[in-house]
Amino acid sequence: MTTTTYRAVQVSKPGRLEMVERELTAPPPGKVRIRVEACGVCHSDALTVEGLSPDIRYPRVPGHEVVGKIDALGEGVSAWKLGQRVGVGFLGGYCGRCTPCRRGDFVNCQNQPVSGVAADGGYAEVMIADEHALAAVPVELAPTDAAPLVCAGVTTYNALRNSTARPGDLVAVQGIGGLGHLAVQFANRMGFRVAAIARGEKMQPLARQLGAHHYIDSQAGDPAAALQALGGASVILATAPSGKAMSPLIGGLRARGRMIVVGVSADPIEVATAQLISGTRAIEGSLTGSPLDSEETLAFSALEGIRPRIETVPLEAAAEAYSKMMRSEARFRMVLVTGQ
Ligand SMILES: [Zn+2]
Ligand SMILES: [Zn+2]
Repeated sequence: MTTTTYRAVQVSKPGRLEMVERELTAPPPGKVRIRVEACGVCHSDALTVEGLSPDIRYPRVPGHEVVGKIDALGEGVSAWKLGQRVGVGFLGGYCGRCTPCRRGDFVNCQNQPVSGVAADGGYAEVMIADEHALAAVPVELAPTDAAPLVCAGVTTYNALRNSTARPGDLVAVQGIGGLGHLAVQFANRMGFRVAAIARGEKMQPLARQLGAHHYIDSQAGDPAAALQALGGASVILATAPSGKAMSPLIGGLRARGRMIVVGVSADPIEVATAQLISGTRAIEGSLTGSPLDSEETLAFSALEGIRPRIETVPLEAAAEAYSKMMRSEARFRMVLVTGQ
């Protein structure tokens, strides 16, 4: 690499993505410099693009589904090699000093440097990342396929593998979008009986192709009754960004069933207290995963042939790709590529 600048797409003020040229800098101690190959466009990029995060300082490069090759090592970095392909997800490291960190619960670090929010992310040809934020990418996976797996992938993979569901249990996946289309594949390969829930019949063929054993059209009738007719769900993984769409599903949980929420929505979930008490049911959240969880998501995907459905666009089309994702028109993940 002889150039001394690189291209990046930054947010200069809320709602405005612009391509800029930046000076190449050496990674500080404990960090690596990555030549970005691919970066997925995630709904949480709105934190940066729309200025939804209170502590954001502009200009800021969004992007936290990043895959590329390490091209420079900061002082003290010994666990990673030059030329190694790595992924960087939502969690950009951890402080090591707060109470959750002292408990070893790095995902819940109170000073979490979120990629593309606290520091510049992957909508660029180059990204600087903390050594603790890296996940090794297996050779079987193309960078464009690996990118969505370090956020959308690990979010659903981790929620499912850490759930109380056991092989053979009925697991429902609500929403067949960026998160849900991966969740159906993971749930199938983990040995669950999978019910996909979406609006209308349009998604049925794809849901079945991805591994759903049952398909429930949430507009055709009562989806909770449909789940109960199948025996009741051990887990409902709620991925669609709508509290209103999640609420009517709670009645579909079997006794001791759990609704696990990973889709971020502006509106609340409504639940009758008796629905939780009777049957000892629960609603819980799940926050992405650690970089090692990402690495295990990638390894499981390579092992089981799981791939995201993606649409690749060049870096310079980042603004269009972001708008398309926000309009829920991405099928199913927009991925920026740099041509590197
Ligand atoms: Zn994300
Ligand atoms: Zn911490």
